[in-house]
Amino acid sequence: MYQERDQRPGGAPAGEGKARTMNRFQVKKVAVLGAGVMGAQIAAHLVNVKVPVVLFDLPAKEGPKNGIVTKAVEGLKKLKPSPLGVAEDAALIQPANYEEHLALLGECDLVIEAIAERMDWKLDLYKKIAPHVAKHAIVASNTSGLSITKLSEALPESIKPRFCGIHFFNPPRYMYLVELIATPTTKPEILDDLETFVTSGLGKGVVRAKDTPNFIANRVGIAGMLATMREVEKFGLTYDVVDDLTGKKLGRASSGTFRTADVVGLDTMAHVIKTLQDTLSAETDPFYASFGTPPVLSKLLEKGFLGQKAKAGFFKKVGRDILRFELESEEYVPAGQKADEVYGRMLKKPAGERLKLLRNSTGPQGQFLWSILRNSFHYAAVHLATIADTARDVDQAMRWGFGMKQGPFELWQEAGWLQVAKWIQEDIDAGKALSKAPLPKWVFEGPVAEAGGVHTEQGSFNPTTGQFQPRRVLPVYERQLFPELLRGEGGPRFETAGTTLHEDKNIRLWTLDNEVLIASLKTKMHTISPEVCEGLQQAVEMAEKDFQGMVVWSGDEPFSAGADLESTLPAFIAVGVAAIEDAEGFMQQTMLRLRYASVPVVSAIRGLALGGGCELALYSAKRVVAMESYIGLVEVGVGLVPGAGGLTYIARRAAENSATSTDKDLLKFVTEGFTAAAMAKVGTSAIESRKLGYLLDSDIIVPNKDELLYVAIQQAKALYDSGYRAPLKRLFPVAGRNAKATIQGQLVNLRDGGFASAHDFHIASLIANVVTGGDVDANTLVTEEYLMTLERRAFCELVQHPKTQERILGMLSTGKPVRN
Ligand code: NAD
Repeated sequence: MYQERDQRPGGAPAGEGKARTMNRFQVKKVAVLGAGVMGAQIAAHLVNVKVPVVLFDLPAKEGPKNGIVTKAVEGLKKLKPSPLGVAEDAALIQPANYEEHLALLGECDLVIEAIAERMDWKLDLYKKIAPHVAKHAIVASNTSGLSITKLSEALPESIKPRFCGIHFFNPPRYMYLVELIATPTTKPEILDDLETFVTSGLGKGVVRAKDTPNFIANRVGIAGMLATMREVEKFGLTYDVVDDLTGKKLGRASSGTFRTADVVGLDTMAHVIKTLQDTLSAETDPFYASFGTPPVLSKLLEKGFLGQKAKAGFFKKVGRDILRFELESEEYVPAGQKADEVYGRMLKKPAGERLKLLRNSTGPQGQFLWSILRNSFHYAAVHLATIADTARDVDQAMRWGFGMKQGPFELWQEAGWLQVAKWIQEDIDAGKALSKAPLPKWVFEGPVAEAGGVHTEQGSFNPTTGQFQPRRVLPVYERQLFPELLRGEGGPRFETAGTTLHEDKNIRLWTLDNEVLIASLKTKMHTISPEVCEGLQQAVEMAEKDFQGMVVWSGDEPFSAGADLESTLPAFIAVGVAAIEDAEGFMQQTMLRLRYASVPVVSAIRGLALGGGCELALYSAKRVVAMESYIGLVEVGVGLVPGAGGLTYIARRAAENSATSTDKDLLKFVTEGFTAAAMAKVGTSAIESRKLGYLLDSDIIVPNKDELLYVAIQQAKALYDSGYRAPLKRLFPVAGRNAKATIQGQLVNLRDGGFASAHDFHIASLIANVVTGGDVDANTLVTEEYLMTLERRAFCELVQHPKTQERILGMLSTGKPVRN
């Protein structure tokens, strides 16, 4: 519940509160108004982060009054990519309608309005809800284009100071950006409170935008897309080539320009374009002339080819073929053409050289690329002062809302600020740019020109104050020890921060506080090689001696893509299978070393934790996990079995679970773990990974990726403070040979029914053998080492199998699984 600023919990005086005391504004429940595309998905995300939510829509004209909402909630289960961590959690969304349930609003600390984009409808609704909204609650609109200030004018005086814009991006679970927009009457602390909740509670990156049409990301992004479409026409390029040029190669979303438009929906895009056309003019935006709806877009809209949802847009998939729309013939013609290779090479060059090469290139593709980059720099510079406080806001918005690796200012600065500025101005003067508007003065003179760019150690440029402005200071940001930095921006970098205790090319062991040791993997995709294992063992050694605990955290995603198969190949070829057996044994020992360390080992997981990476997590004392984590034992995909303790873990967990149940049939407890490993299942979220058995209830899911390290360190310290002791080594019962026979019976059916190949059957049988404890009676007591021996044997047997070798080589050469 919202309390006044000086009433800090625990009576801490204002200003002395630390990140730990940031729960001034507690969001116990949220109301989302509108169960459309956005509202329903926002509600789903709230459930993902464990915030109770009530989802409202109009009462249905026929049938149950909550019909519109319940249908929308059902729809969430089928949507791809899934808005929910696990589909069944859709049931946790409380349905409501404005006729029967307005009183529920009184229980909510935050009301997010996400109804259709019509000022009159929104205003009507505000009138309807106003008497029911709790006195402390924040009310925020998810409008993409309407003026927040105009919307606020219809509100009673009591709500106005608690009203603002909260602009999510679609799909809200996955898009990191949320723009917050104040009106002149929004109380500043309301925005701070909301920013705190959105950042830490929802796990999003907040950018504060001014109340201008389409705010920051869509303004710059859609103007950029329109500009790109114009240049496409000018240079006569086809959509497939443009997407190849403007996707990954250019450091942008891999779907490029036109496929992105198809995914977003051409009607949605047309809507945002219309907002630009309706709310701006040649006076307020000197690029206005380039905002016309491109003829091809008009044609596609006219034909109802609205993109992916209509199964036709700029592109269309027919069977396995991708076709592209051709305006002249109004037909779909074969697509798949790639850009000239020379530009792919140019785009890999350092920024300064890259831009120079593109600018000087004579081919249309190179000229096109230079033009769209120049347009983006030009547009961002001309509009910076009106749409944002600082250049940082623009660059973050473009990274987080449009999936760009770098925002326009960062790239410009990296390429050489004044040189690029000169090129842009030359193009403007020569009439090549989309607008005659000159670059603002601050580009050429004063602090930006002197510093060589807008991002500096002191902060990012604010054209209104003429100064470099540091990031906003809010207690919540103390939880982000290494926030994502823009190029040129000052701030801590995890690669060099703290005190290094040991560093080689595989691992860095370091500390920030002399209390917790951090082990950061440096290998590609953070794979686990024997050298990494050595480093981890050394880390445990050091941590036991001088630290309270240890955290495995490697900065970037992924946590770890698994054991490094390639590194063991030379030894395998030279020495044979004995080398593999040694390497596996060493990995298993490393896992046991982590598990039985006298100080707690906490794994901080984000992104993939596969195979050996999953095992590393499983053998830690605790896991702190970003919501977007994908955990699983996937070895079957390369014809192997988990060989570094994964299967041993499954057997042990089965025993532990059965020990706390009255049901003593171990087979029941081992089946789920067996199935997950035998089918190489990977959780599509932290929540699903938990359902698969790879996380415990006591593990912590953290919404914001940048808070992982902070929380993991806190956890390690808390465990230590609570008197942590490693688990005692104990014997545990296994399900035995009869259970194995039962599992195998089911496998035979799968194989004979054509659902699994003979080799799959063989691998699954080996897995069944390990997780049930081999050829022993039910409830035989075993050690982890005993099971690990079975695991190793199975692994080594498979490594020598020609079909497994085929799978490994296939994966190493193409990155795709071989089905044999
Ligand atoms: P939508 O059309 O999918 O859903 C709108 C919902 O509003 C529907 O469930 C409908 O029943 C309800 N509604 C319609 N008229 C109403 C009325 N008079 N009173 C109360 N409810 C009414 O729309 P959407 O795409 O989810 O967009 C919702 C809001 O979010 C809009 O303001 C839009 O600009 C904004 N937005 C959309 C996106 C996007 O990509 N779709 C992204 C960001 C923001």
